[in-house]
Amino acid sequence: ERSKLKRLRSTRAATLDGEIVGLHANIELPADAAQVRDVEADGVGLFRTEFLFMNRDQLPDEEEQFEAYRAVAKAMGGKPVTIRTLDIGADKPLQSGGPRTETNPALGLRAIRYSLAEPQMFLTQLRALLRASHYGKVQILVPMLAHAHEIDATLTAITLAKAQLRAEKVKFDENVAVGGMIEIPAAALSLGVFVKRLQFLSIGTNDLIQYTLAIDRTDESVAHLYDPLHPAVLRLISMTIQAGAKHGLPVSVCGEMAGDSSYTRLLLGMGLRSFSMHPAQILEVKREILRADSQELAAKVTKLMRQDEPDRINEAVDKL
Ligand code: PEP
Ligand code: MG
Repeated sequence: ERSKLKRLRSTRAATLDGEIVGLHANIELPADAAQVRDVEADGVGLFRTEFLFMNRDQLPDEEEQFEAYRAVAKAMGGKPVTIRTLDIGADKPLQSGGPRTETNPALGLRAIRYSLAEPQMFLTQLRALLRASHYGKVQILVPMLAHAHEIDATLTAITLAKAQLRAEKVKFDENVAVGGMIEIPAAALSLGVFVKRLQFLSIGTNDLIQYTLAIDRTDESVAHLYDPLHPAVLRLISMTIQAGAKHGLPVSVCGEMAGDSSYTRLLLGMGLRSFSMHPAQILEVKREILRADSQELAAKVTKLMRQDEPDRINEAVDKL
């Protein structure tokens, strides 16, 4: 079974009717790039940089970060490497200082909110990311955006980091793409703000489900209520994919849903053409794609999206 899947490594992910699908990998540390190359992924769709910052007393300086980002950029040899700015807080706390203990850490000073509150730390990371962009196809991804002004402040910080590097005659990719995570319902419900300011979108279903259903993703006692197929969740995902298509912005899904092959046909039918997941899941998802007819799935999913009844939705997804 494993070896059969392995034969798909160099097969391009395309549906029966010829739709090309990008299959990217989620990584946490530079060493993970080896596995990404091993499965011949189309790139890194999500580098969770917070793992460079966690479980240590001192934060990594610009040089250490630069080396980590450059290592991945180089390892991927020109394939896109989407590096997410620090997504610290809530389920991923910093040991060294970091946000104070909050009553609701998932609703607190996390991710981009934390970065914007710590401009020096943010600038250091952005400089390291930009410097790495000279060594491969780096893209910057911003987590937990909800407000237009957060995007604007982030873009201003990137502009500042670029100006500094230019003045120092340090090389970087002037056209590095900047994208945003759609993982707060407010973001999926105000996509105009995002498509206007950003170059790509990545749907973080882990948090999108958490915030849409008000289910703490780390709380076992409510895990049974954490439902990716809740009609509200499906609508937010679908709206995001459609807004991207309408405005010519690439949209990817990088939450756990993207790597669960039981949802591959559903996401394809919604129009998704880029998935990012743990490298170990890529070949199984690819097998589903190779068997799928995107036209047929689109028609079935359009019908499915009109359903509100969970039993009907589950049954329709099973039958796709
Ligand atoms: C997500 O929220 O779906 C996501 C990909 O990011 P993380 O799991 O790191 O919060
Ligand atoms: Mg998230």
